[in-house]
Amino acid sequence: MLQITKKVSLQKYNTFALPSTAEYFCSVSSQAELSEALAWGKKHKQSIIILGAGSNVLLVGDLAGLVVHISILGIELTSQKEDDLVIKVGAGENWHQLVLKTLEMGWNGLENLSLIPGCVGAAPIQNIGAYGVELSERFDSLEVTHKATGDVRRMDLSDCQFGYRDSFFKQSGQDEYIITAVSFRLSAKPDICIEYPALKQALMKLHTQLQMKHGQSFHEILTPKMISDIVSSIRRSKLPDPAIIPNAGSFFKNPVISLEAETALKKEYPDITSYDLYNGNMKIAAGYLIEKAGWKGFQRNGVGVHDQQALVLVNLGGSGYELLSLASDIQASVLEKFGIALEIEPRVYQ
Ligand SMILES: Cc1cc2nc3c(=O)[nH]c(=O)nc-3n(C[C@H](O)[C@H](O)[C@H](O)COP(=O)(O)OP(=O)(O)OC[C@H]3O[C@@H](n4cnc5c(N)ncnc54)[C@H](O)[C@@H]3O)c2cc1C
Repeated sequence: MLQITKKVSLQKYNTFALPSTAEYFCSVSSQAELSEALAWGKKHKQSIIILGAGSNVLLVGDLAGLVVHISILGIELTSQKEDDLVIKVGAGENWHQLVLKTLEMGWNGLENLSLIPGCVGAAPIQNIGAYGVELSERFDSLEVTHKATGDVRRMDLSDCQFGYRDSFFKQSGQDEYIITAVSFRLSAKPDICIEYPALKQALMKLHTQLQMKHGQSFHEILTPKMISDIVSSIRRSKLPDPAIIPNAGSFFKNPVISLEAETALKKEYPDITSYDLYNGNMKIAAGYLIEKAGWKGFQRNGVGVHDQQALVLVNLGGSGYELLSLASDIQASVLEKFGIALEIEPRVYQ
């Protein structure tokens, strides 16, 4: 039977390690337990908040209502036609462990998304992406339970309305649905993706170590598992480990501006990092803007900006309120200096 506990500390359930308390808390490991939790919420007139691994939330205060931690497991090959295959994964599976498992099975496609913290069920919420690949490119469908009615349905690519760190679940569908399983389209045939600048740079450095023969291309020599290892090692060198320095990864989205605006910005800041979105818009590095505005390494009241990566805010023993206040000052100073509005990436609960 489902166990619902009163007054549970969420400190170990969020990677900022913020000392928020859930009024009620339960962990569900099946569809039946989820239905039980929803029925309990309805009966006791308590709102429901869903939590995965807490790596993309900022808990500013305590959470009223029932916090439901999703721990539904399972990885299943549901179809295979020649090299194309589909797997269905329980929402509570750990994302990086899934990536490793798929590579071990020879199911390729998720390698660029290695070492992203969190659970599988949260991955579609902001269409996780890294090193040139977004979840939407490997997505087949997902299963959701409607919070209010308990109805179960399948949603496909067009239903999910994926965008850059965005989806239906962050827009009109916010807080309406609980994702219980996600299906991915992978391939038994490796087709590595190495165009992302930071990945390409790392490969150039590894050129001699890889002992490539004259005329050989990276595509001939690199396996998806090697890409996963390289991406993991770049990430380890660039991002602070939340277990050591509590953080939620990128705190702001990289802003998207017009090509004209980017050209004007580049005149003044020739070394700014930008990526062509091939639709007349450019994505520029928010970390660069924050660093140039003088925030890198800044600390106050137990919170700060990481000294190696300005895009990452860190909790050094402060509060969610202090993190939000620092974020707001950073947003104001970047807006004043560059005329660019930064958008917060994690979900803020206050
Ligand atoms: C060090 C670090 C590096 C990171 N790097 C990246 C990166 O490279 N790319 C990237 O895209 N993200 C990155 N992130 C952000 C984060 O890892 C992802 O957004 C991840 O998918 C969040 O998963 P989670 O289980 O921790 O979600 P949570 O933080 O638990 O939840 C996030 C939101 O999703 C909702 N949610 C969670 N599970 C479900 C569900 N099953 N159904 C419905 N709603 C749900 C929650 O209610 C909440 O609003 C990084 C974070 C950290 C700490």
